[in-house]
Amino acid sequence: MLDVERLRAETPGCAHVLDLNAAGSALPSRRTLDATLDHLRLEAETGGYAAAAEAHAELEGFYPSVARLVGAEADEIAFVENATRAWDLAFYSLAFKPGDRILTCVSEYSSNYISYLQVARKTGAEIVVVPDDNHGQIDLGALERAIDARTKLISISHVPTQGGLVQPAEAVGRIANASGVPYLLDACQSVGQLPVDVGRIGCDFLSVTGRKYLRGPRGTGFLYARRATTQHIEPIFLDNHAAKWTGDNEYTVRADARRFENWERYFAGVIGLKAAVDQANELGMEAIWLRLRELADGLRARLADLRRVTLTDLGEVKGAIVTFAVADADHVALRDALRRQAINVTVSTQFSSRLDLKGRGLLNVMRASVHIYNTEEELDRFVAALAATVGSP
Ligand SMILES: *Cc1c(COP(=O)(O)O)cnc(C)c1O
Repeated sequence: MLDVERLRAETPGCAHVLDLNAAGSALPSRRTLDATLDHLRLEAETGGYAAAAEAHAELEGFYPSVARLVGAEADEIAFVENATRAWDLAFYSLAFKPGDRILTCVSEYSSNYISYLQVARKTGAEIVVVPDDNHGQIDLGALERAIDARTKLISISHVPTQGGLVQPAEAVGRIANASGVPYLLDACQSVGQLPVDVGRIGCDFLSVTGRKYLRGPRGTGFLYARRATTQHIEPIFLDNHAAKWTGDNEYTVRADARRFENWERYFAGVIGLKAAVDQANELGMEAIWLRLRELADGLRARLADLRRVTLTDLGEVKGAIVTFAVADADHVALRDALRRQAINVTVSTQFSSRLDLKGRGLLNVMRASVHIYNTEEELDRFVAALAATVGSP
């Protein structure tokens, strides 16, 4: 059981805002805030290089902390500034030829899909969108049938930005591994929300951001690269951190996943994200996931009682991201009106997931995403404010 009162007391933002935007940028704990600020201050007072030397153990500790969180080895983790770049570093490091096929899902994230389109245009590779099943999650039978000799990658998002759906990532992994197809998993919304174990999932690459469910600082994230299957993949970018200039015409690439990093980075962010990850490890992802589902289910139940609200979450297992439509309401204006009452929610549009929302005839959806510092009292207050703002129960 989580001590919610204590979690709130240790989260400075809880005193100022009713935050239901963990899927956008969650409220960090004081411990994460202090770890980040302390390093920024140390840099200002001693110089950035001296500060990095002084914080060496803490900076190196980032890798085993993250590895523990996702069930990896420390040398399979790279610090990257956000989930999109982490994903890009994996995706753009793969070589595609004309006719190669990339299999993805309907709920895929826009930035990933834009990259498929770009690579398809440049290389002649093809994008195959595997249809959903009756639950609105990837149809595993259709995925199996779609795999052939031309399939070069299976690439999906574990939890989409636009809803409570949790894709069956482990079942997808079993299919990918059985057919020997590389598997890239966008775990931007899942890591920190639910237990994620790369060994059980069987993915080759996994990309994550710091600021969402991990409650880390903005401008942080990481990439996991499975040693056994990706060690010979040379990163699309190299620099003098990822590789060594060993002869006038020679270089050697680092063996560990840090070959995907570059030399300069947000050192205070590394330390801040480590603090956030340590906290998630200490609280335990099973306990966090249990509490988040309890809150999200409670929020869905409250919203279902509002006459004008339609819940829009898909999937057999629904997580902490709650989405809904309000009849005859301008969602953006509603978000802004709630913001003026110090309530943070957001709107997911077709620009973040075109195939999914357009396919369901939704222009956009309201998104209220809970985290462990939220309370049932806050959910009551939010739903009352929503009903009062749209002017009906
Ligand atoms: C937010 C999000 C991203 C992008 O993460 P950044 O850290 O902003 O790059 C990628 N995929 C999904 C599913 C997301 O929700």
